[in-house]
Amino acid sequence: MKQLLCRQPINKVGLHMQTKPMSRSALSRSVAPRSVRSVMPHSAMDSTPTNWILAALPSPQLQRLMPQMRPVTFNAGQVLYDEGQKLQSVYFLDRGLVSLVLNSTCGHSVEVGIVGREGIVGTYGIVGDVRSFSQAIVHIGGRGWRMPLEVFQQEYKNNDRLHTLALQHLELLHLQAAQTALCNHLHCVEERLCRWLLLTRHCTQSDSLPFTQECIAQMLGVRRSGVTVAAQQLQEQKLIRYTRGHIQISDSAGLTKKACPCYTVLHRRFSHFHDSSRQWQH
Ligand SMILES: [Zn+2]
Repeated sequence: MKQLLCRQPINKVGLHMQTKPMSRSALSRSVAPRSVRSVMPHSAMDSTPTNWILAALPSPQLQRLMPQMRPVTFNAGQVLYDEGQKLQSVYFLDRGLVSLVLNSTCGHSVEVGIVGREGIVGTYGIVGDVRSFSQAIVHIGGRGWRMPLEVFQQEYKNNDRLHTLALQHLELLHLQAAQTALCNHLHCVEERLCRWLLLTRHCTQSDSLPFTQECIAQMLGVRRSGVTVAAQQLQEQKLIRYTRGHIQISDSAGLTKKACPCYTVLHRRFSHFHDSSRQWQH
């Protein structure tokens, strides 16, 4: 199974004009080889999907789909699929977080989106038999479900609710990519760190985030020293508590005040999408 060298999932980086982006060679030191292995199954015993899209499906539809899905466990650092790889499956997370990363030909990388239990990894498979335009890397381990692409595509055509939610999630991914590009171009490290921490908190529903400073620097596309300074400042203001490999958000309201406006835009859109799926959840 493909793993990053960093103990925790890391390889999310963003480009920033005022900072030095992580080079491909530097990134490769922290990212495992590009072969992709299957995620491991977990027991389906008494497992009921809590992924918000699956949970929004009417019970008869979900029961019909269950035999066609495989329960899987995701480990931090796993690559679910790589750039250029033909999609075979899509993934619905019950727990955990997946990062979508683009690698440029000039050797830099950029995170273009995250997917948690609100969404689908591989949503754009609705357009046909496509190859992945990004890596999909498990950022926080968890569990969920794998659905063959052909099943997903068939459901998209025939299942009105899945059709609606998949389209809405695709739009959410598009917004993330656009907003992240703007954020990385305009806003300082501290603002971006606050934005990222809050959005991750929102997707995981947890104040406890397992990331090292090196990991965060790679996510944000900045030098580690920049993250160290920003994290120290946030800790001195009692907004976070930082220990090696772990960040505890102590004051999310205070962190929100420090974040750039991008967080508000993204949070509003995530919340809107959540509301759409929640209205149907059992
Ligand atoms: Zn921003």
